[in-house]
Formats: sequence, structure tokens, C-alpha cells
Amino acid sequence: MTYQRVLVKLSGEALMGNLGYGIDPKVVADIAQEISDVINHGIQLAIVVGGGNIFRGVKAASAGMDRATADYIGMIATVMNAMTLQDALEQMGIPTRVLTAIAMQEVAEPYIRRRAIRHLEKGRVVIFGAGSGNPFFTTDTTAALRAAEIEAEVVFKATKVDGVYDSDPQVNPNARRYQSLTYGHVLTQDLRVMDGTAIALCKENNIPIVVFDLSVRGNILRAIQGEPVGTLVGG
Ligand code: UDP
Repeated sequence: MTYQRVLVKLSGEALMGNLGYGIDPKVVADIAQEISDVINHGIQLAIVVGGGNIFRGVKAASAGMDRATADYIGMIATVMNAMTLQDALEQMGIPTRVLTAIAMQEVAEPYIRRRAIRHLEKGRVVIFGAGSGNPFFTTDTTAALRAAEIEAEVVFKATKVDGVYDSDPQVNPNARRYQSLTYGHVLTQDLRVMDGTAIALCKENNIPIVVFDLSVRGNILRAIQGEPVGTLVGG
């Protein structure tokens, strides 16, 4: 295995499937199955889950809501996704812990860095909910932050496309997929990998990012084995 401790960023939309809103239990069960395959190989896995399938702060703010309030609602939405994923994993017998950056101790543990690492060492899947706990941030940035904190070797950005392209493949049939890219290239070309803060944080801490299609069965494990499943962003 190329990587032993991995942080996976799952967007809220990844849990939505083809629904316009919310969570598709079938899709969540499929993701849980993928994760279970990884855990059975002894890999330490942490997940940062987004909330865009339920609530996005920026969107609500553009409709007139106070931005910080909207962002807190967005963070709470991520906790719903985190708990849903936890339930699906535990139904497969995989031990998990949800750790939230906003305290809600009746439903989840508060985020404590050392505790998160301990859970990973014990083979539990750690699911980070409530983003970074701060408004004006994203769960992409949270993924980069938590990866640095828990000393993950890589960030997996599991999405709906099979990598990063030089132009939109939906629009341009000649769009080319990058095998690898530098952080600098992503930032200067403003390529849609993760937001700029997340890229900068990964760059500063030398954490590679692998972008790949989550819907292809076995892709998480292939990426862990170092196979070229998508686009690798690094130094
Ligand atoms: N959010 C936030 N701070 C964070 C992480 C998330 O305020 O550290 C809020 C923000 O409003 C965001 C929402 O939570 O729109 C859901 O997260 P995100 O949009 O990153 O989810 P994704 O696009 O991955 O589904």
C-alpha cells in the first residue's frame, strides 16, 4: 500500500446521488461498502464530510441571510451527513467515531486531535463533522487542516469526475485530463480541485491530493495502492 493513513474528503453531493437534495441511502450504503474494503486492508481512514446536499452558507447569504449564521447552519448540516455515514458503516460492523468541531456531546464526541489519532490507531473510521467550526471556511479547507493535524499522508478528493481537466469535459470533447499537477499550477490557473485555501494548506504541509471518481467501484483502494485513478496534485 502506498498510503497507510488517509483523509478522504466527501462532498455532501456525493451522498445525494441523483436526488436534487438530501441523502440517498443506497449511495451511502455503496460508499460504506467501499470504505469497509479499505478498512479490511488495515488502512487508517479519516473522513471530512461536506454539507452542500443540505445547506450551503454562501448560497443562503446571497439570498440575504447573515453569512456567519448561514455558515453555522451549513456546519450543522455536515453533522447530519456524518451521522448518516456513521450509521451505514456501523451496520456493516465497522467501528466509527464522529468528532464534531462544534460541541454537541449528546450525539458525538468533540474534536480533540490526540483522540482522533488514537481512534485511527485502534482501527476506527474517524468522521469529522461540523467542518472547522469556523464560518467563512469550507469543508475542503477543513480536509486540508485535519489532514495536517492528524499527519495523514494524503488527501483524497473523491468526486463525480475522474480527475482534473484543462477545460470542462462536459462542454469541450477535446478536454484533457491531467495525470499530475503542481499546487502552483492549480492555484495560478484557478483549476477547480479544492478551494485556494485548501490547496495552499496542502502545499505548505506537503500533503499530496488525489482527485478521483468515487462512483467507480474499488477506486478508493486503488488510489491507496498508488494506482493512477485520477489526478495527483503535489509538489
Ligand atoms: N462551513 C463553514 N465552515 C467550515 C466548513 C463548512 O462555515 O469550516 C459551512 C459553509 O456554509 C458550507 C457548508 O458548511 O457551505 C457546507 O460545507 P461545504 O459547502 O464545504 O460542503 P460540500 O461542498 O463539500 O458538500
